[in-house]
Amino acid sequence: MAHRTAARPAPAGRPPADFPAEVLPHLGMPALIALTADDAAGRTCIWGGRALPLAAAVDLGEHLLDGVLAFPQSCGPCIVRRATDALAVHSPDCPTCRDRERWTECTVGYGLLSAQRQGLRVGRGGCR
Ligand SMILES: [Zn+2]
Ligand SMILES: [Zn+2]
Repeated sequence: MAHRTAARPAPAGRPPADFPAEVLPHLGMPALIALTADDAAGRTCIWGGRALPLAAAVDLGEHLLDGVLAFPQSCGPCIVRRATDALAVHSPDCPTCRDRERWTECTVGYGLLSAQRQGLRVGRGGCR
């Protein structure tokens, strides 16, 4: 397999608009390579496959795959369900999340909450 050293620096992409990129692994975002063309273009929900009008989509940031930018998006219900599940796994064992004074300082916990809120904001129309 030939590896070409990049002549120009690869763009780093862009984090999601409404929560930090650190949250994405906790949401279980599929590998970019596994996305369909519609998923990568943000036309369908990457988790349920539903066609997404812009107003019903949650932005998951810009990602670079083999030199091509992908713009994965989620429907509201899918990201709410995933963020809720991820919070249930993360928060009980996170000292920052359990600290009533400092819980907003946890990038993951607070980020998951922001993702959840964003999902609720775009509404009910979802993959199922
Ligand atoms: Zn969905
Ligand atoms: Zn936490």
